Amino acid sequence: MDFALTPDQEAIRDAIARICEKFDDAYWLKRDREGGFPQDFYDALSREGWLGICTAEAQGGAGLGVTEAAIMMRTIAESGAGLSGASAVHINIFGLKPVDVFGTQDQKDRMIRPMAEGREKACFGVTEPNTGLNTTQLKLRAVRRGDTYHVTGQKVWISTAQVADNILLLARTTPLEEVTKPTHGLSLFYTKFDRERIKVREIEKMGRKCVDSNELFFEDFQIPASDLIGEEGRGFEYILQGMNPERILIAAEAVGLGMAALRKATQYAKERVVFNRPIGQNQAIQHPLAKNWCELEAAWMMVLKAAWLYDAGKPCGAEANAAKYLAGEAGFNACQQAVMTHGGFGYAKEYHVERYMREVMIPRIAPISPQLVLSYIAERVLGLPKSY
Ligand SMILES: Cc1cc2nc3c(=O)[nH]c(=O)nc-3n(C[C@H](O)[C@H](O)[C@H](O)COP(=O)(O)OP(=O)(O)OC[C@H]3O[C@@H](n4cnc5c(N)ncnc54)[C@H](O)[C@@H]3O)c2cc1C
Repeated sequence: MDFALTPDQEAIRDAIARICEKFDDAYWLKRDREGGFPQDFYDALSREGWLGICTAEAQGGAGLGVTEAAIMMRTIAESGAGLSGASAVHINIFGLKPVDVFGTQDQKDRMIRPMAEGREKACFGVTEPNTGLNTTQLKLRAVRRGDTYHVTGQKVWISTAQVADNILLLARTTPLEEVTKPTHGLSLFYTKFDRERIKVREIEKMGRKCVDSNELFFEDFQIPASDLIGEEGRGFEYILQGMNPERILIAAEAVGLGMAALRKATQYAKERVVFNRPIGQNQAIQHPLAKNWCELEAAWMMVLKAAWLYDAGKPCGAEANAAKYLAGEAGFNACQQAVMTHGGFGYAKEYHVERYMREVMIPRIAPISPQLVLSYIAERVLGLPKSY
């Protein structure tokens, strides 16, 4: 057993950190205030090929694993870019995994390479307003007529839809009443985001203002049949391919943001003098921060274990879910403690930790809630009856 990063993995971490150094706290504070996609940050990573870190070499990527991608995403968040930085590139890293596994050679060539090279952006449309986490109940309907699917319905919370060139879309092609299992009858498409036929309304939200999330309204949106991924009706099965790596990456981002918060809190605790001594000399300040470190390190171990299993081609559902849960909670605890350690100044934007506190809610809530992770572990690991 070896817990050390390899020299190549250390080099990845250092190279990403060097790029992120150019985007300092002031940059992210401005993005948080004003919104607007952080294109210069995206371009800086893209220019050096990092968006293709785990895309196959045949499609212009580096062909590395989810372990290396997790190191990259943690480093981005930990730099202070937080979820604003991580979410700007997140989908390029692993979003098209279902196309890689189930797409035709033509689809792989025309869809994956532009994402890996940063020439195109995409959004991922799963969540709907009236189905919540019960994905099998999705209602957005795609009906095939000739060589075209006609799509009508609604999605919600779709991130980066304001800037996306394409959409990876899960839609129902066979009505729920006509399938033998609710997981059947959903189909996956990757296609041009046609703004004439998809109306996009940005959701005003708590944090991560520079990476938009949106309601989408589809009005006879047309998808060429050549943009159907794999077989019609098997889309649910296909998106499962991308779920474990997505959980691992978002967990890595939560650890990174938690570490950034811990760094700010520790620094402040050393410098802030009250009652003639640094506040960090008090155990009531020290112990919660020490506990945050323990929790974040433990979560990171689970991230690396899940990533190692995935890269080794072994089942990793329990570990990927556990990593997402532990990192979301550890990141949240660290961000909350960072605000508290700063006292009143923790509430001021110029100290940055209030932004972290708002952003860390994202890896807690999405793409799956802590409750549903625990339900999954209870059922799949502990063998308890399914509760949902
Ligand atoms: C900033 C942000 C960005 C997002 N980006 C995207 C995106 O790009 N694409 C996309 O498709 N989606 C996106 N999402 C959506 C996100 O994945 C969902 O919000 C998330 O999966 C939760 O679904 P829901 O909001 O419908 O919650 P609901 O399913 O309505 O759940 C609400 C609450 O009830 C709990 N609950 C529900 N059922 C049970 C049960 N059986 N047992 C116990 N508790 C239960 C949940 O745990 C949760 O706490 C984003 C969300 C956010 C906040």
